[in-house]
Amino acid sequence: MNFSFDNIPMEGLHEECGVFGIYSDGTVNPAYACYNGLLALQHRGQESCGIAVSDEGVMNYHKDMGLVSEVFNNSILESLSGQMAVSHVRYSTAGGSVLENAQPLVMRYVKGTLAVAHNGNLTNAVEIRKELEQRGAIFQTTIDSEVICYVIARERLHSDSVENAVVEGVKKLEGAYSLLVMSPRKLIAARDPHGFRPLCMGKINNSYVFASESSALDACGAEFIRDVEPGEIVIVDKDGVRSIMPEKKCNKSLCVFEYIYFARTDSMIDGISVYEARKQAGRILAREFPVDADIVIGVPESGIDAAIGYSEESGIPYEKGIVKNSYIGRTFIKPSQSERMNAVKIKLNPIIDMIKGKRVVVIDDSIVRGTTIDRITNMLRGAGAKEVHMRISSPPFMWPCYYGTDIPSRGELIAVNHTIDEICKLSGADTLGYLPPDSLDEMLGGRCSGYCDACFSGNYPAAVTRLTLKGKERGGMNFDNKEKCASKEEE
Ligand code: AMP
Repeated sequence: MNFSFDNIPMEGLHEECGVFGIYSDGTVNPAYACYNGLLALQHRGQESCGIAVSDEGVMNYHKDMGLVSEVFNNSILESLSGQMAVSHVRYSTAGGSVLENAQPLVMRYVKGTLAVAHNGNLTNAVEIRKELEQRGAIFQTTIDSEVICYVIARERLHSDSVENAVVEGVKKLEGAYSLLVMSPRKLIAARDPHGFRPLCMGKINNSYVFASESSALDACGAEFIRDVEPGEIVIVDKDGVRSIMPEKKCNKSLCVFEYIYFARTDSMIDGISVYEARKQAGRILAREFPVDADIVIGVPESGIDAAIGYSEESGIPYEKGIVKNSYIGRTFIKPSQSERMNAVKIKLNPIIDMIKGKRVVVIDDSIVRGTTIDRITNMLRGAGAKEVHMRISSPPFMWPCYYGTDIPSRGELIAVNHTIDEICKLSGADTLGYLPPDSLDEMLGGRCSGYCDACFSGNYPAAVTRLTLKGKERGGMNFDNKEKCASKEEE
């Protein structure tokens, strides 16, 4: 494989990944449990995946580019025998999609072996990496997860246990991490103090399981126990399970976009049903942007739940108006704009008989660059829709995300440079309504104890270092919200 680090801007990479890990009591095969868990997390990343197992302290792993079902087969899973495992599905932006960056990362260092699977984006990875490089560290990848491995490995040199190394190591990390660390004899789960990314815990008999989403617990037959708390570190070993809570608590800042788009509809995150949140967004849209129409349809998948809510509230019948080919990845997976445009066409097709001659309300979860809304409106008009009323179950995207959601540069966000009326005209829709930013609380049933909506509001809950900001600028963005996003040096 031809590979050049020169093409990969370390600062420009963004992870939207899924993690899954298990400490088995001997009744569950860890590699197969991971396989099933990863299949259920496939929507969180479709570029590469991997499983690392520990067999009586000896680590073995397999990872590759591609979908879980492509990368693993029975004989590979059979070869991954052991008592514990961590695993990962990865999404990255263009350039970073190489095998070297696939996870879990398995590192050999003076105290043995560590395997790490990470979801989220650190906001001080560039600084830590530079500092380590200046002291002679050599990095194999361009992902911030390798920085985490180094930090833990370094702490381990003067800690009496791997969990203490994790406890001390994560104090140096800033930003978003939902982390699974496997040492030869222990499985450790850690969630950053803001709780940006989800992480939950389940049980099969006496085997303990951790996953980005509860739907992955269901997939491997595990019973949901609870979410890992923001800042919490959970350790599982032969002595059982113990938890270390942070000394200092931060305001919880779970990414609200997990509910809007990212998570699976059958997942519960921090006690709130993703499906219910999406339906509620639809009800709010029906109240805020009513219209006389014949049918309500949703853009699969996340738009469907909101469309059901819109229908419930408005009394307009819900219909399946667009069919999705489930065998191709999420639109964004295609790195270039032209590839993305084609992907929309290949992925979605209208049911003409349902659409023809109708006044249609259509709901999608978000507008980023404006590619999808434009395609959908054209597709519905082409299918004979009399009117197309577009409703979006999130507020307008206005700001970049530093905590792990891939949002393009500000210059590419259509809502930054256009009014809602202009976006409506550009898309060819008859009317357009976005979820009002102040209704996110209501969308979450007033039950979320804290969430991050920085991509909509520009209110960043955690400082971002100057180098990370610079990295975004170098990544081609017209970044002008420095006053909104507290830079570390300016604090
Ligand atoms: P766009 O076509 O650029 O306006 O993007 C909007 C579409 O992309 C919507 O249909 C979303 O379902 C999807 N989408 C929004 N945000 C993301 C993201 N961070 N990663 C992948 N897909 C996304």
